[in-house]
Amino acid sequence: MDTKELIQLIDQMEQTIVDHEQELTDLDATIGDGDHGLNLAKGFKAVKEKLDQSDLKTPSDVLKVTGMTLVSTVGGASGPLYGTAFMQMSMVVKGKDCLTKDDLLPLLEAAISGIQKRGKAEIKEKTMLYMLVPYVQQLKEIPQSEWKNTHRLLLDSLKKAEANIMEMKATKGRASYLGERSQGHMDPGAKSMEYLLEVLTKAVK
Ligand code: ADP
Ligand code: MG
Repeated sequence: MDTKELIQLIDQMEQTIVDHEQELTDLDATIGDGDHGLNLAKGFKAVKEKLDQSDLKTPSDVLKVTGMTLVSTVGGASGPLYGTAFMQMSMVVKGKDCLTKDDLLPLLEAAISGIQKRGKAEIKEKTMLYMLVPYVQQLKEIPQSEWKNTHRLLLDSLKKAEANIMEMKATKGRASYLGERSQGHMDPGAKSMEYLLEVLTKAVK
């Protein structure tokens, strides 16, 4: 995947967030403060504009600009969290002209570590991390040569994580103020992560 293709992938991520803006905001209205879709749509729209305007040479530059733009334009907790994830990813592939399948797991591991460093959440808390981590585990269990044939399995692992997250009690972020009342509701950040990972899955060849 070259720089141009990565920009196209991030544009698709922007599109899915914009398409689901209202749903993400509604989820956040139930267990948070009702701004998650708004926050992320604003952030990703700014990313798209920035990527369109800039003349970026490498995938690492694209990831860095994406991360920095998310941090600076998204007001809520999710901006710095997603932003740090993209910035950490940019460091893993510094100096490369193209991304290959070998880069995918290190990139996703960097995203996990960025989110953890920034948000100090454990994996098994009701947050976006609990969507990302099982996905990466599932991907690790599939031989690289089979990735393109196992999209269904990867998408199913997201649905399984969604079901688990619904039942969890929130202990991080605003939803933690609700305690047990957060159970039975989907975490908005985990849902946005699910949409982003769906886009990624379709791009895995
Ligand atoms: P805010 O909570 O500031 O309004 P958003 O509504 O944009 O920010 O994002 C809320 C989402 O951020 C949550 O649903 C959760 O997935 C994620 N989140 C919040 N705190 C953390 C954390 N410490 N670690 C990981 N994810 C977190
Ligand atoms: Mg919120």
